[in-house]
Amino acid sequence: MTMTRLAVPTFDDLNAAARRLEGIAHRTPVLRSTSADESTGAQVFFKCENLQRTGAFKFRGAYNTLAQFTPEQRERGVLAFSAGNHAQAIALSARLLDMPAVIVMPEDAPATKMAATREYGAQVVTYNRYTEDREAISRRLAQERGMTLVPPFDHPHVIAGQGTAAMELLEDVPGLDYLFVCVGGGGLLAGSTLAAQAMAPGCRLVGVEPEAGNDGQQSFKAGHIVQIPTPHTIADGAQTQALGQLTFPIIAEGVEDMVTATDEQLVQALRFFAERMKIVVEPTGALAFAGVRNGSVDVRGKRVGVLISGGNVDLPRYARFLAE
Ligand SMILES: *Cc1c(COP(=O)(O)O)cnc(C)c1O
Repeated sequence: MTMTRLAVPTFDDLNAAARRLEGIAHRTPVLRSTSADESTGAQVFFKCENLQRTGAFKFRGAYNTLAQFTPEQRERGVLAFSAGNHAQAIALSARLLDMPAVIVMPEDAPATKMAATREYGAQVVTYNRYTEDREAISRRLAQERGMTLVPPFDHPHVIAGQGTAAMELLEDVPGLDYLFVCVGGGGLLAGSTLAAQAMAPGCRLVGVEPEAGNDGQQSFKAGHIVQIPTPHTIADGAQTQALGQLTFPIIAEGVEDMVTATDEQLVQALRFFAERMKIVVEPTGALAFAGVRNGSVDVRGKRVGVLISGGNVDLPRYARFLAE
């Protein structure tokens, strides 16, 4: 198995990622909304990664990582464990780069997600989430088949790829005072931080977590990584237990504040996106705007970037949120 050295990513790595992704990832639009501006008293700029390929920013990090595999790694292929957007991102990236992919998913994962992952050409291996350990299964499979395991956030190439979304926003919208970014394991926020430090030093980064899963906020305050039990929240993309070894130091150094939003506020934000902006956003994707709207930070009169991270939500579930 080829080892990847876990070097801390730099802005040069983000630039290289941007070049790799050019013409392959979508340059997603930046949307405005008069009612968003009026309700927050700010000028809000929405970077719409719900309109990214596979429906979330994770395609950026996945493709950037797989594109740097050695010929030997490519031949053996990639393995990932995920029930969510990382799975689809790895599956599509592997198909585009013509390499085999195995995704390890819980056997009770939503059928639509499994189907989408298979449609992108990946082999899905299922496990019982109550009796089996997915990391042990993944490591064994990776070893047996010589595949390279790609984690969802704590990897330098993943972080660099995720950072390209904020790079595009900062290029398109000069003079941002704030950038709000949702936080699970912190790959997106760490990448965004590296982008802002180099491109817009005056722009303050704010991470937003679900209130029930504020491990990142606790870690930020404590100055070391704090781990929590898997939180109960509708923001399934942010049900992580801890920030990563690579993402935490970048966040601790470069982020202005970490705030939270409640599930109720996420539902209100989803409805706002549907009703006012005509876009489908998944609960986790609404975290950043929910964090702006709930007044955790005084943004009145400021230019505020909001990263909408994804739009993958089962329609029956989405319909229930809208009907609530
Ligand atoms: C993975 C994911 C997140 C969290 O990203 P991290 O890099 O783990 O912080 C947020 N939103 C969506 C839609 C995701 O898929």
